Amino acid sequence: MAGIYIHIPFCKQACSYCNFHFSTQLSRKRELVDCLVAELEKRKNYLIGEKIESIYFGGGTPSLLEEDDLKVIFQQINQLYTVVDSAEITLEANPDDLNREKLKALKNTPINRLSIGVQSFFDEDLQLMNRAHAAHEAVNSIKNAQDFGFEQLNIDLIFGSQTTSDEMWLANLEQFKALSIPHLSAYSLTVEEKTALSHKIKSGKIEAVDEEKNYRQYILLQEFIQQNGFEQYELSNYCKSENYAKHNTSYWLGKSYLGIGPSAHSYNGSSRQWNVNNNIKYIQAIKSGENYFEVEELSEIERYHDYLITALRTKWGIDFKEIDAFSEKISTHFYKQIKQLNYPGIIHHKLGLSVDSAHLFQSDEVVRELMIG
Ligand code: SF4
Repeated sequence: MAGIYIHIPFCKQACSYCNFHFSTQLSRKRELVDCLVAELEKRKNYLIGEKIESIYFGGGTPSLLEEDDLKVIFQQINQLYTVVDSAEITLEANPDDLNREKLKALKNTPINRLSIGVQSFFDEDLQLMNRAHAAHEAVNSIKNAQDFGFEQLNIDLIFGSQTTSDEMWLANLEQFKALSIPHLSAYSLTVEEKTALSHKIKSGKIEAVDEEKNYRQYILLQEFIQQNGFEQYELSNYCKSENYAKHNTSYWLGKSYLGIGPSAHSYNGSSRQWNVNNNIKYIQAIKSGENYFEVEELSEIERYHDYLITALRTKWGIDFKEIDAFSEKISTHFYKQIKQLNYPGIIHHKLGLSVDSAHLFQSDEVVRELMIG
């Protein structure tokens, strides 16, 4: 089974910390949707007939799509691919888009899961991040989504920002709990190069991110999660009752996925490929039949490293069966290295190896010990 990722590269405004690919020029949205539909056709053999168990609309801001845009995309997917009945179909949405009219329209599509970009329930955080929504809209959007029967909900929250005190972070988590949302993605604020946030820090307009506070708020999150019956199943992802996000979990477990749209990445077990991250170049190339992506064939060592990086971020960790499927040189190296591992939080199972949730944020250090070269 495999997944399809569809990148919707438009946003109403640029968030100060964001380095994803998007454009605020929405005039070519419909033309781009037509190109997504064309790319689905062009690449219909990429997954070699594998059934589709997840579809994920990411961005950018997929909630800017109209019902008609979504319908043509689903029509094409259903014509070309076999989507299983139990497929998870997620749309990333911003709170300012999720009014009752939009939710009614989304209910007319196969979308059965919403991932809402809340980030914070405090206006001062949202202003620092230059988000397009206000705190009250975040709460209303979640309640509206629940009223319309969207039970599979995720929200994104960001901790460690300059404006987020420990009390505010705990209040954000309490608000998340009070709204009975089954899934949380929580990230520390990362300052990426060439973002407005990075410029403001460099020019002294705002202070740098405080790494100690970041860590403290991560620990507050761990405590909150444990006290409230949530499970951390990946470095940044938490849920109740095994409500794991199928799409993201399949990335971490190394399954194949087809990425459609500007900047989208694809993976098929032996190579990675990524589309041009420019809307105009993408549209022109799709229309004229020119090349619009780059491909990297993965060496065995690269595949081994990819597996370590993704598997060790999850609660399932490394599966010895997967290691044994690599060449003897790689598996011998792995088994030799794990005997010498001396990190807190390492759990040796009969059939694998993982890192406990209190130390998951250090899993990169363990990965480095297990890498080759
Ligand atoms: S809405 Fe999402 S993709 Fe768009 S600028 Fe903000 S963080 Fe980036």
